[in-house]
Amino acid sequence: RSSTFTSSQVDAALITPRATKLLIDGHFVDAVSGKTFQTIDPRNETPICNIAEADAADVDKAVKAARKAFDHGHWPRMGGKERAKIMYRFADLLEEHAEELAHLETLDNGKPLFFSKVADVPLTVSHFRYFAGWADKLHGHTIPVSTSHLAYTLHEPIGVVGQIIPWNFPLLMAAWKLAPALAVGNTCVLKVAEQTPLTGLRLAQLAMEAGFPPGVLNVLSGFGETAGQALAMHNQVDKIAFTGSTEVGKTIQMASGMSNLKRVSLELGGKSAAIVCADADVDKAVEESHFALFFNMGQCCCAGSRLYVHEDIYDEFVEKAVARAQKRTVGDPFTDVEQGPQVSEEQMKKVLGFIGKGVEEGATMRVGGARVGDKGYYVEPTVFTDVEPNMSIYKDEIFGPVMTIMKFSDLNDVIDRANANPYGLAAGVWTSSLDTANTVSRALRCGTVWINCYNNFDDALPFGGYKMSGIGRDKGMYALENYTQVKTVCTPLNNPTW
Ligand code: ADP
Repeated sequence: RSSTFTSSQVDAALITPRATKLLIDGHFVDAVSGKTFQTIDPRNETPICNIAEADAADVDKAVKAARKAFDHGHWPRMGGKERAKIMYRFADLLEEHAEELAHLETLDNGKPLFFSKVADVPLTVSHFRYFAGWADKLHGHTIPVSTSHLAYTLHEPIGVVGQIIPWNFPLLMAAWKLAPALAVGNTCVLKVAEQTPLTGLRLAQLAMEAGFPPGVLNVLSGFGETAGQALAMHNQVDKIAFTGSTEVGKTIQMASGMSNLKRVSLELGGKSAAIVCADADVDKAVEESHFALFFNMGQCCCAGSRLYVHEDIYDEFVEKAVARAQKRTVGDPFTDVEQGPQVSEEQMKKVLGFIGKGVEEGATMRVGGARVGDKGYYVEPTVFTDVEPNMSIYKDEIFGPVMTIMKFSDLNDVIDRANANPYGLAAGVWTSSLDTANTVSRALRCGTVWINCYNNFDDALPFGGYKMSGIGRDKGMYALENYTQVKTVCTPLNNPTW
């Protein structure tokens, strides 16, 4: 693979960051400490700009602002329709700035501009619209009771919500967290990932233009061990929502227990099974399982990273999957490529480390395996076969462009193998048999099963993990449960005959 890329012609205005400060109580401010950090361009390892670095003091200011906005402000008390109006306006503004947001996302994260434009930005816009639609449709039930009482439930916002998001889909993760929380009347303190702060901070500016009242939405850039931890430990935060590694997810849960038992929802790691049956359309399954793993440089929590292929089609499938990976174009994400750099040096090294271990532990590397060039965090699309259950590339989440292909002969056996993993986020199955599809999708212990497709992220589809992949669901109507609590109201009926 060539290490030189066509240099991209990028409109400078679209990649000039305009938002580098914290949003607290409606104002864009420096950190209390005055500290900043650099965000790095993963294409060439050079700093893009300095960003305000929030720590515990800023978290405290933001939580107090959100507290005031929730306890005494208009937001949780206004009608759902009114909240929706602001959210729709916000979505329109995001859409008007789609080009700029897509460019910033690619600059900071390294994902191909094409995907920022057709996936990240439009999905973000539609997510705010989808949940704006729920803002006036959330209601409880009237419950018949055996005594002569009137009883009903109210679905109420939880209060101040802390939200911590990762760097793989910076805008979209902000949307998955903020949209349902705001729609039902919570106030939010969002901490964006330190690797990719640009679009979250720009989104904060557009939110203020859209008219969210001060304190309803606060956005902080800063590091996990400082700002993130302070948010998870804060006694005035009523709920914390986190997307990121399972390891940090555990500390979030512990922080809740050690502080005020704030509600916790977690969307964590995965090692999702992709199962290709003998009766699948092989070419289609090759293409879709390629997408399942390599999409977003393999940096998806739901990546189909354990690919099981039936023995009858195994040789043909492997040959085609290897050829497809070989053909995958890698380079500057502002050019016409399928794959850009990994997000950071740390991630690139981690992925290369897994590849090295795979070789060391005896798997067969069929293609790829190396860094591309010596500037930027590019990694070759890599495929392993002869992967055994004790190998780290089989067991651990790699979060990079590394496919592992295993052979199976019996459906029940492959279901057991797929389930023998502490994660349970997603899975894919390719088959032309309705029976097989039904059996597999019911038997797998995971939060999403895609049949003859992968990575469908429609706003309405709940997404989240079984087992160590998480607690609670993002997206769809189930996400509303993350951000509401149920109040029971009961009162005597004075005329019990009616
Ligand atoms: P990754 O390993 O993919 O970077 P992390 O789980 O480390 O994922 O990070 C996801 C988000 O969690 C980021 O916003 C990060 O700053 C934050 N984070 C990391 N460590 C902590 C922590 N100890 N407490 C709270 N948040 C954290």
